[in-house]
Amino acid sequence: MASALTDKLSRLVKEMRGQARITESNVQDMLREVRMALLEADVALPVVRDFIARVKEKALGQEVVSSLQPGQVLVSIVNKELAATMGEGVADINLNAQPPAVILMAGLQGAGKTTTTAKLAKHLIEKRKKKVLTVSGDVYRPAAIEQLKTVTAQAGAEWFPSTPDQKPHDIAVAALDYAKRHFFDVLLVDTAGRLAIDELLMAEIKDLHATIKPVETLFVVDAMQGQDAINTAKAFKEALPLTGIVLTKLDGDSRGGAALSVRQITGAPIKFAGVSEKIDGLEVFDADRHAQRVLG
Ligand code: GDP
Repeated sequence: MASALTDKLSRLVKEMRGQARITESNVQDMLREVRMALLEADVALPVVRDFIARVKEKALGQEVVSSLQPGQVLVSIVNKELAATMGEGVADINLNAQPPAVILMAGLQGAGKTTTTAKLAKHLIEKRKKKVLTVSGDVYRPAAIEQLKTVTAQAGAEWFPSTPDQKPHDIAVAALDYAKRHFFDVLLVDTAGRLAIDELLMAEIKDLHATIKPVETLFVVDAMQGQDAINTAKAFKEALPLTGIVLTKLDGDSRGGAALSVRQITGAPIKFAGVSEKIDGLEVFDADRHAQRVLG
């Protein structure tokens, strides 16, 4: 894919022709362009710094294979490092548990948790042939419980009722019991989110995690969140042993640099990308393709 950055790098590559080795000075210009591209894509600054340092370390002093120009070597190091940071291969949902496999959805309000819960239910029904139950632990927003009911029906899954006067812990226990008795393969637990990190909420979701012992704890994060994604990711990682990330709203016009930040901060693989508001708008995350998008 031709891109602004690729064009710039190609130009620099041309200027480097004829040089046999990668040196500190010829690497500098190139890294400046890469750094700019990552910052423009809203990758968080500390993550950009780390990334550039790793590329520089790998590039400097590297023996250049005689058939390749130093510029080409650099481009390939950048691409490889980007793909490695973003995660290689496809990381599917882990259902390796005594049924029902419980999946906990975590993230800020508006990130797309409820929508993603239903999308995931549909994915597991269609692609993995599973019997799926959903439940909402969002007792603060009755509308959120209703929303989950609606989208669960669209997904063709079953919804377990909950009400705002219940405790999330009790809801989860009841849903788990129901799922066991009715032989569900998967229980998806949607949770409350706040607009900002909130200690009470974090304590509540930690308790929920300890109660239901999920095989997957997915952190749902809005790709449009940009620089802020790093703080959200830190807070959720401290509270929960995250097993995967879902990056939503990639159909927006952001370059999706949040992917790099969130992945580096949490160490968890990005499993899915949300690409529309619709129930089928969920794709398995493709790190290579996303790397190209982030570079611009
Ligand atoms: P929650 O508060 O985390 O449960 O977030 P919701 O699931 O209610 O989603 C918040 C808003 O984002 C809704 O208007 C969704 O339709 C929208 N949304 C969620 N995922 C996506 C996505 O991948 N693409 C787009 N365009 N919109 C999304």
